Amino acid sequence: MTTYVIIGGGLAGAKAAQTLREEGFDGEVVVIAAEAERPYERPPLSKDYLRGKSEKSGIYVHEPSWYDDNRVDLRLDVVATEIERAAREVRLSDGTRQPYDKLLIATGATPRPLPVAGAERALYLRTAADSEALKEAFAAGGEVVIAGAGWIGLETAAAAAEAGCSVTVVESAPAPLVHALGPELGEVFAGVHRGHGVRLRTGEEIAEVRRGSVLLRGGEELAADHVIAGIGAAPNDRIARAAGLEVADGVLVDQSLRSSDPDVFAAGDVANAFNPLYGRRIRVEHWANALNGGPAAARAMLGREVVYDRVPYFYTDQFELGMEFSGDVAGHDEVVYRGSVADLEFIAFWLHAGRVVAGMNVNVWDVAGDVQKLIRAGTPVDVKRLTDPSVPLSDL
Ligand SMILES: Cc1cc2nc3c(=O)[nH]c(=O)nc-3n(C[C@H](O)[C@H](O)[C@H](O)COP(=O)(O)OP(=O)(O)OC[C@H]3O[C@@H](n4cnc5c(N)ncnc54)[C@H](O)[C@@H]3O)c2cc1C
Repeated sequence: MTTYVIIGGGLAGAKAAQTLREEGFDGEVVVIAAEAERPYERPPLSKDYLRGKSEKSGIYVHEPSWYDDNRVDLRLDVVATEIERAAREVRLSDGTRQPYDKLLIATGATPRPLPVAGAERALYLRTAADSEALKEAFAAGGEVVIAGAGWIGLETAAAAAEAGCSVTVVESAPAPLVHALGPELGEVFAGVHRGHGVRLRTGEEIAEVRRGSVLLRGGEELAADHVIAGIGAAPNDRIARAAGLEVADGVLVDQSLRSSDPDVFAAGDVANAFNPLYGRRIRVEHWANALNGGPAAARAMLGREVVYDRVPYFYTDQFELGMEFSGDVAGHDEVVYRGSVADLEFIAFWLHAGRVVAGMNVNVWDVAGDVQKLIRAGTPVDVKRLTDPSVPLSDL
């Protein structure tokens, strides 16, 4: 029987397994999953689940019975330790070997450790267990210091502040989210957080995590009952590299998510995929990329014609700010706005040579599709009409 093996029981892996069955694949589907939990979605871990506003049952990708019902052999708590491409086998941590005909690497990413003394005292947020540990820490209250004002850092800061903790976010860049959004929009997020009493220490870094405090590079010591590190994540590409696959910040794959080995594919956070829309490789660490990339890879494994050219998409909720972000700000030369930034109800557009390359709708809904159409079109836009709320985006 033909066997398709998926390494990684996250959203990308689970959705790939689902697609294999939906597309009529009748062979064996094996999912090797390092975690003891069945596949679940991570966004709630820094939002409603962390805030205690939603139940754990809501995080899972499928019901427990789905795996048996669909003949998906889900091996929990087992790590794929090596891919032997010549033998077409995966070595597993339980000492067994799993043969494959085609293989999908959907191993996700791991939080980067704080590169300072005392880092072992810091908490991280990637898994459901991490989220539960943070919830417990926030319930205990006190001073929370967060390293990194990226998405994870800011969402965690909002949850901690809402739980009644005193929160400081330490960020080395001059504003939050500079890498994702550039400095101007980062200030919008900074304003929202400050408005809720979160202290932002930009242009600073944690130099050491001590018992009950952190030492900043500038020499100041901040009280810290809990230290949380949200300084980015690294792709889990070690076994791919060891297997001789082309790897550079993730597994390099083409527009059909196929790696340098035609029988091995990659999807989700670990995939550094060629996106024909941008004409370059992009590694996207967002939920929608796992949701859509897993199924795309599954179809490619089945020999279907696949061109994975989605506009990167991300969403977040922090205090009263809800937003959707589409595109990639790299190389932009201008940011323009439609609506009121002061009232936190606007769409920001990032332009490159007069073309929309990214857009973010803040507390404005049902427009992400139109924003993505503008990005996809890749043609110069009339900025006056783009920024005029009376002109429907669909008319542009
Ligand atoms: C707290 C948090 C909040 C987030 N919020 C948002 C959000 O609001 N919006 C958004 O767009 N994105 C968000 N994201 C990002 C989104 O969750 C990820 O992009 C998504 O989880 C990626 O899915 P994945 O399947 O590629 O990887 P993962 O979800 O990381 O799953 C990979 C799985 O593979 C396992 N694995 C790794 N190596 C092996 C191995 N060798 N053998 C077996 N198993 C292995 C891992 O343990 C893991 O369970 C958030 C992420 C986090 C952590």
